[in-house]
Amino acid sequence: MPARYDAIVVGSGPGGASVSHTLARHGQRVLVLEQGSGAPLRGTLAQMAGIGAIPGKGAFFHRDASLLVRGLATGGSSTLNFATAAAPPLERFAALGIDLAPALAECHAELPIGQLPDELLGPMARRIMQAALSSGLPWQKLDKMIRPAICRTGCWRCVYGCPYGAKWTARDLLDDARLRGTHILDNAQAMRVLLDQGRAVGVEYLRDGSLHTVHASVVILAGGGIGSPRLLHASGLAPRSLPFISDPVVAVMGAVDDIDGGAEVPMAAGMALPEEGLSFADLTLPRPMYQAFALQVGRIDRLFAHRRTLSIMVKIRDLAGGGIGPRWVDKTLQAQDRERFRRGTALARRILSQAGARHVFQSWHFAAHPGAALAVGSGGPAAVDSDLRSATPGLYVCDASVLPAPWGLPPTLTLLALGKRLGHRLQDFL
Ligand SMILES: Cc1cc2nc3c(=O)[nH]c(=O)nc-3n(C[C@H](O)[C@H](O)[C@H](O)COP(=O)(O)OP(=O)(O)OC[C@H]3O[C@@H](n4cnc5c(N)ncnc54)[C@H](O)[C@@H]3O)c2cc1C
Repeated sequence: MPARYDAIVVGSGPGGASVSHTLARHGQRVLVLEQGSGAPLRGTLAQMAGIGAIPGKGAFFHRDASLLVRGLATGGSSTLNFATAAAPPLERFAALGIDLAPALAECHAELPIGQLPDELLGPMARRIMQAALSSGLPWQKLDKMIRPAICRTGCWRCVYGCPYGAKWTARDLLDDARLRGTHILDNAQAMRVLLDQGRAVGVEYLRDGSLHTVHASVVILAGGGIGSPRLLHASGLAPRSLPFISDPVVAVMGAVDDIDGGAEVPMAAGMALPEEGLSFADLTLPRPMYQAFALQVGRIDRLFAHRRTLSIMVKIRDLAGGGIGPRWVDKTLQAQDRERFRRGTALARRILSQAGARHVFQSWHFAAHPGAALAVGSGGPAAVDSDLRSATPGLYVCDASVLPAPWGLPPTLTLLALGKRLGHRLQDFL
């Protein structure tokens, strides 16, 4: 392994994989450091649990603190995510001096993005959609990053990490980058950014119990909405406890008598109400996850009703707040967030009632989109500029931590486009 690269990318989620892949296509020598494992996805609960969940501070003790879920593995959270593709808010980025349209067009040309064909829409998603439409709501199929020809009906494994290759993950880009000469080290945790006269010149990382150093012309942090702020702090380049967003979610559930299901692609259809800061989708999850929700709120009577229970995801666009410490995250709902959940869950209950569901209950909230701690153009203490450059020369950030706050959308497609744009723009510097 060479001691010097054109670029070191820390983290291999959508942002890191996209920028690595684009740089590799331009012929750059790239090293990707990923703290998680690159073991093949098996689609099992045991593997999924090992890839990760992070409790928010106090998450198990009071209901306003978020349980934050993220994937620590080659491919980052894309290994576990629900594969919903939402278009980036192009006008919002344009106002920040970022034209994302060309990179987005490249993503659309290269990636499997589209609605599921009707036969892959499960009976639960279908029932919820019918109920929402008959209530006059703009519910529709969502774009997914799934290859329909490989996807199976009656399958839930995408939630644990699709073992069939039907669900797109950032590993697809990494595999191609590897063929173009990119070195990808898994189980390699970056400990700090190396500086020389105030410029980022490399990374110190831990692998197999030993510390190593590696150097490059540029360092790109892509450790995700929690990982990159932590690494900046560990390198003495950002204050501790930067506020962030998480797009928290509640599942509202109710049983029907005439469906025997429980195994289908989640978030097949839904609707967004941007003015209200709310979005909704069907959310059929595997039985152990459903049972965890029921247990969490003491609904032992619903434990064995998984195959008959319709579930609606209510997601809010939350206010930035809380903080990210070296070993903890703290994201507690604020009054406006609670009010949004009150309105969103009331609407979900109306849809379930229209669908004929009874015994309705809801989970506590949890979240899977930590981000915006280094928000582009925010002027915050560690914000990046429109080229995703940090205040430290030679150091860039390309992951959910640069998203502008508040957010409220599935972020993956935006991060892929940001990674492509950064990869192209870095050609001028390398
Ligand atoms: C259950 C779930 C469902 C989701 N569903 C959707 C969805 O349907 N649609 C959507 O768009 N989004 C969804 N998301 C969110 C989406 O997957 C994330 O927003 C996205 O993956 C974030 O990408 P990222 O580039 O910020 O990095 P991440 O995916 O967070 O990856 C960062 C990687 O960096 C690594 N890392 C961190 N620190 C270090 C370090 N110091 N050294 C080395 N490596 C490090 C981590 O191990 C991780 O692998 C979901 C997320 C989850 C958890």
